[in-house]
Amino acid sequence: MSAHEPFQRAMAVVDLGAIERNCSHLKLGLQGNAELCAVVKSNGYGHGMAECAEAAMRGGASRLAVATATEAFELRSRLPEAPILVMGALTGAELDVAMQARAEIAVWRMGFLAEISERAAMFGFRPRVHVKYDTGMGRLGDRDPRVIEALVDDAAADERVELGGLWTHFATADEDDESFLREQLQRFREVAVPAKERHRGITLHAANSAATLRGADFHFDMVRCGVAIYGLDPFGEDASSHGLQPAMSLHGYLAEVKAALAGDSVGYGRTWTAESDTLVGVIPVGYGDGYRRGLSNRADVLVDGHRVPGVGTISMDNLTVDLGPGSEIEMGAPVVLLGAQGEDEIAAEELAERLGTINYEITCGISLRVPRAYRR
Ligand SMILES: *Cc1c(COP(=O)(O)O)cnc(C)c1O
Repeated sequence: MSAHEPFQRAMAVVDLGAIERNCSHLKLGLQGNAELCAVVKSNGYGHGMAECAEAAMRGGASRLAVATATEAFELRSRLPEAPILVMGALTGAELDVAMQARAEIAVWRMGFLAEISERAAMFGFRPRVHVKYDTGMGRLGDRDPRVIEALVDDAAADERVELGGLWTHFATADEDDESFLREQLQRFREVAVPAKERHRGITLHAANSAATLRGADFHFDMVRCGVAIYGLDPFGEDASSHGLQPAMSLHGYLAEVKAALAGDSVGYGRTWTAESDTLVGVIPVGYGDGYRRGLSNRADVLVDGHRVPGVGTISMDNLTVDLGPGSEIEMGAPVVLLGAQGEDEIAAEELAERLGTINYEITCGISLRVPRAYRR
């Protein structure tokens, strides 16, 4: 074995310092006293929920948001004091879990508000509710401004709950054309501004990362940033142009280096055949680790500070690369599949583009088989 035999086959390194810095940077860009809510759903976009939540709070986030009751419950066990908002829909059983976690809850139906109110007495605490207005996302929330106004006033009048917020979510904040985004903003303002006049303490919030970066018009009292806190570009281009630094890198190693003679094929289905004699490296990382099969014959990896092309079909546990004829790269050499090595870098945005998807799905998809190592 070579001098640099790695400790284990694959590892996702998460730079918590980067998350902390990304949050301070986002926070500094907010208007007035707007709060930063760090969105840590889906295991912190694959980065690790609780660790990222703690880093975000060190960086100036004052609130956290998740999608599910179970996520809130897990997060509560690590962060006993932090305000946690559950943004998603909840079944009755999930509502109980969210209440146990002392989470803040999204509401857009009278019946659900009544259910929260009834159960609140049982749990002996006064849950904060956030009324969700569907201004055009067409997903959760109610579209009727009068229903929203009534919910806001009812929640405020109900002793057993606390009116925490009024909020919406944008469908096209990441697109160049702002027209629909502005329409949604206008609809939200028409209900939100008078609601704030009636209920001074209410938190108005609308922006995801993309809207947050577009400017103060979208900030209101709080922004909900997910992708940007992990140093990913919500516009799918270049995170550094927004002063953000990617937090996750994915590491493997060359477990095998072997000669492929002209005409030799590699991997399932023989989708790649050596045109001339070359050396092939085998990296024990595959789609079982979240390195997607759709990247077969399409993505590069970094070895020895340089790009080499992935060749052949990516399998569940292995992928193969063409090291080139006469390569002196040794077995055991460290490989970077996502992130920087030497002068070069493979960004989540690059892999997403090759797959026809978004950077969110790249980091979210790194499976739990890959251990996360945290660095500060
Ligand atoms: C996931 C999510 C966010 C965060 O979106 P990013 O684009 O990752 O910043 C904000 N609000 C809601 C309702 C979400 O579901």
